[in-house]
Amino acid sequence: MILAASNVEESEENIELAKNNSNMWASVGIHPQQTDPKNEDNINEQIKKLDKLIGDNKKWVVAVGECGLDYSPAPPGEKDRSKTDQEKLFRGQIDLSIKYSLPLIIHARKAVDEVIEILSQYPKTFGVFHCFAGGKKRVPKVLSLGENWYFGIDGNLTYEVGLEEVVKMIPRDRLILETDSPFLAPVPHRGEANKPEYVEFVYKKTAEIWQVDLAKTEKMIDTNATKLFGLDVQLR
Ligand SMILES: [Zn+2]
Repeated sequence: MILAASNVEESEENIELAKNNSNMWASVGIHPQQTDPKNEDNINEQIKKLDKLIGDNKKWVVAVGECGLDYSPAPPGEKDRSKTDQEKLFRGQIDLSIKYSLPLIIHARKAVDEVIEILSQYPKTFGVFHCFAGGKKRVPKVLSLGENWYFGIDGNLTYEVGLEEVVKMIPRDRLILETDSPFLAPVPHRGEANKPEYVEFVYKKTAEIWQVDLAKTEKMIDTNATKLFGLDVQLR
């Protein structure tokens, strides 16, 4: 299990969980639309905090993110962060991923082209476009970033016909599957709060699209994930 973070507090919680559970690893990062809960949105300070968290916990931290750009309206309770600040925060986290040779977990919404453009300026980066929302059109653009870029697909694969077509275009060695809990619960749990265990239905749907049996699909996807995040685990 890779635990993605949306702010500094969650990053700290992820590290604690990873320390106390086997087969759990932490990502640390700040989502483009999550402003500091204490309202002190000092980007340099937050990047420094992440830097220290990674430096002190190298054994458990396997990725930087969620980070990126989100130009859709901020969810209730969140303030809109300006495009300039979003970019500053994103670039700060890209620098950390390069410093520690860690993959990026990218959140790109209504700004996929902008994110690709920024990443193309950093040839050393690698990672995953989490909950890939770039459509068929942008699959080749992500692939052109380099051979260590992956696509993360979530529960909406079970009900969005368009996404099925996107998955067919993604090379099989570049796909990973995600939960995005508590959001995007897959069919037959659509509309409920999502749980990590429901990721099973995303694997089943992928197996159906690939026309490969489930056990083999699971192994292929999990091999991709262990490669991307550099995990030393024995897969079933
Ligand atoms: Zn996200």
